[in-house]
Amino acid sequence: MDIAINNTKLITFKSDGLGIIEEGALGIEDGRITYVGKNTKLDADIVIDGHDKLTMPGLVNAHTHTGITLLRGCAQDMPEIQWMNKGIGPFAQQMKASDMLIGSKLGVMEGLRTGTTTFAEYSYDVGELVEKVYKPFGARVVAIETLNEVISKRAKMGPDELYEFGSEKGEKCLKKARKVAERYKNDPMVDYMYGPQALDMVSMDLLSKVKELADKEDKFIHMHIAQGERERRQIANRYGKSTVELLDDMGFLSENFLAAHCHDTSVSERSALVEKGVKMVGCPSSIAMIDGIVPPVEDFLKLGGIVGLGSDQAPGPGTHNMFKEMRNAALLSKVRHSDPTSMPSWKTLKLGTIEGAKALGLKGLGALKKGMLADVITIELNRINLVPSVNKPFHNFIPNLVYSSTGYEVDNVIINGELVLKDGEFLSIDEEKIKEQAQERAEVIFEEGSIPWREAGSDLVDIVDEGSL
Ligand SMILES: [Zn+2]
Repeated sequence: MDIAINNTKLITFKSDGLGIIEEGALGIEDGRITYVGKNTKLDADIVIDGHDKLTMPGLVNAHTHTGITLLRGCAQDMPEIQWMNKGIGPFAQQMKASDMLIGSKLGVMEGLRTGTTTFAEYSYDVGELVEKVYKPFGARVVAIETLNEVISKRAKMGPDELYEFGSEKGEKCLKKARKVAERYKNDPMVDYMYGPQALDMVSMDLLSKVKELADKEDKFIHMHIAQGERERRQIANRYGKSTVELLDDMGFLSENFLAAHCHDTSVSERSALVEKGVKMVGCPSSIAMIDGIVPPVEDFLKLGGIVGLGSDQAPGPGTHNMFKEMRNAALLSKVRHSDPTSMPSWKTLKLGTIEGAKALGLKGLGALKKGMLADVITIELNRINLVPSVNKPFHNFIPNLVYSSTGYEVDNVIINGELVLKDGEFLSIDEEKIKEQAQERAEVIFEEGSIPWREAGSDLVDIVDEGSL
C-alpha cells in the first residue's frame, strides 16, 4: 500500500447518505482507494495518524477562471454595469500572458491548500495553464478553452447593438481546444470540455462545429447561460428567442451540457433544462458580489437537477476556497428563500464534492469507495473553530465543516494517490516564491492601471477619494 490513514473519522458518501465511519481507516495504492472501512492498523509507505482528523473526498471546483487571480480585490462593492469595463478592465489591460500564469498558480495553490483536488478551468490558452500550472502542481483539471468570436469593442456598445463576430478568431480558439484534447487524451489527470463562452459571443456556425466535435468525442459543452439583461437583449435581437429556447431548438440541451450561472432563466426554462438532463454549476459568491443576485442553485436541486459549485474568479468573490463557496452557497440560499432549511449543510457538502464530480461528468470520483480514484483530504478537527466534534446524538462536524471551517484546517491533500500537501506544507510547490511573484507583478499592474482606472471613472474612484478604500 502507498498511503494509509489510520484511526480517522471518514465521510465516504457511500450510498445516498454521507456514509460516516466514526472510527475508520483508508488505504491507497496505485492512485486508487484499496481499503475503506473499520479502523485497522494498515501498513503502507506513508502512514498518516488520523487521530482528531476527518478524512473525506477532495473538493471539486466546477467552474473557475484562475488566470485573473492577480486582480483579487480590484473590483468589489461596485455597480454591476461598471464591473467589467471600469472595475477589472483598466487593470486587466496591464496584464501580460505571464501574469495569467502567475495568477493561476496563486489561485490553484489557494484551492489546493483549502482542499480542492479537481478544478474545471475555463480560460483562453488553457493548454498553457494545464502544462505550466496543473501538471506540475499535481492537480486534477478539466480544461475548457474559452471560445469567443466577438471582434467588436463591447465596452463602447449599447446593449441592443449587435456584436460583430470574426470566424477567424473562433477557429483559432477551437484549434487551441483541439490541441489540448489531443495532447492529453491519455492523461488520467486531464479531461476537457468545449467552452463556447456564452450564446451571445459565438456564431451559429462555430456552435455547430463545436456540437459536432462534442458529440463525436462524447464530451461536454460548458457554457455561461442566461447571465443577465445584456445577453437576453443580444439573443432576442439577433434570433427573436431566449437563450434557453434557442439552445433547445439547436438540440444543445442534453446530459452532456453544463450550464453555468443561469440566473436569468424563468421557472419553466429551469424545468426544461433539468428535464433534458442539463447539469448546472452555481457560483453564489461571484454572482452575489458582481450582480447582487443569488443563483438558482436550490431551484435546480428541487427540480432534481445535478448541481456543482464553482469559485468563478478572484475579482468577484475574492477566493478560490471551496469551503467558503459552500458556506456562501448555503447562507445566500437561506436568505434568498427566507428559509433556514434551504440548502442544509449535509446537502451543500455534497455539492462541493460528489455532486460537483457528477456535474463535470467525472466517473469514479467524489466518494471514498474501494476502486475509486484516490482524491482525498484530511481535516484537523481540533482547531479552535471546529471544537467540539461529537458523534452523538448526531455528527455536529457536518454543519461545522460547512459553516465554521476556513478551509485552512485541511492538512493533507492526496490527488490520484499522490500527496500534494502534507501536514499543511506543499511537497513540490514553492508557496513563498509564488506569493512573492504574485505580489511583485500585482504591484506593477495596479500601479500601471491607476491612471486608466481613474479616467474610467467608476463609483470606486469617488470612494477612494473620500478615503474609504
Ligand atoms: Zn465563468
